[in-house]
Amino acid sequence: MALTAHCYDGQSSRMRAAQLDCVDGCLQLAFEDGQRQRWPLEAVRIRPRLGNTPRVLQLPDGGYLELTHSAELEAWFPDGSGRIEGWADWLERRRGAILGSALLVLAATVLFLRHGMPWLAREAAERMPAVVERHVSEQVVALLDRLHFNPSTVPAARRAALQQRFRALVRGEPRSAQMRVVLVDAEGLGANAFALPDGRIFVTDQLLELAGSDEEVLAVLAHEAGHHVHRHGMRGALEQSSLFVVAGLLFGDASGSSLAVSIPATLLGSGFSRGHEREADAYAFDLLRRHGQSPKAFATMMRRLSALVPEALEKGPMGYLSTHPPSPERIAAAEKAATGAGAGAASP
Ligand SMILES: [Zn+2]
Repeated sequence: MALTAHCYDGQSSRMRAAQLDCVDGCLQLAFEDGQRQRWPLEAVRIRPRLGNTPRVLQLPDGGYLELTHSAELEAWFPDGSGRIEGWADWLERRRGAILGSALLVLAATVLFLRHGMPWLAREAAERMPAVVERHVSEQVVALLDRLHFNPSTVPAARRAALQQRFRALVRGEPRSAQMRVVLVDAEGLGANAFALPDGRIFVTDQLLELAGSDEEVLAVLAHEAGHHVHRHGMRGALEQSSLFVVAGLLFGDASGSSLAVSIPATLLGSGFSRGHEREADAYAFDLLRRHGQSPKAFATMMRRLSALVPEALEKGPMGYLSTHPPSPERIAAAEKAATGAGAGAASP
């Protein structure tokens, strides 16, 4: 049975109608004007099928035929659709499959944001050059400076003693060479402490005033050291700013400047994830116990900070509490670590 096709010579837009048949492994074309052509089937190439678009047969002389899909075509060109093209065609013609693949892409995106992004952020943070860590930290300090940092008014002897005890605490720890404690008087930040990606750990006089002892301050510093060891600042910022960066790339800011803006904002504003907090806590408890100090001091300090909640809320999003929520779980974990078995060096 003959098929009707539109024939083009491949050079002009002129179309001629033709009847198509297959005889003895040859494709026979019979044009309206009586002209005939004959091509071996293996010399004719059929383009992959796509949805309901017309099938296209490519002729060896550069011309091509357009015709609707039919069972005959399938019989003449049994390998007419490559595996991938066939699959694309199958998808093309099934709405359910289209919806399914859209959902699959969505699920993959969510999975990537939840698991892939943190992994990517950690890999990127570990390779982050120190110069970038310094640059980002400078930006944070510049932002904080608007809150009027003043030199610490804590007596020099206590400051020196704290510095010395901190150095002894982190000696030999990973990335400890970069760590240094910076004491500032910052009424605007209240009782606060935070680690910058370059290893600076800021502690406010207000936190020292709140603490009942230097052990409690050291417990907070140990926690901040944990953030630095695990590169939480850069990791969290990369995770959270990646969305802005992607948006920036989509909407025309390809310079990556949105990263420069969002990293300090992330470090100060949204704080660390619960996972990062737990990781820094665990590091701190272990570090304290290895040095014969009890993680209980951390629990005590968290309780003191918790008592500040109304005041901290008044201070807005910059408070230590907003970035370090002192949840009952964390306090309980500190107390458990303090009494934990196997802590040979733990003090009572
Ligand atoms: Zn923290």
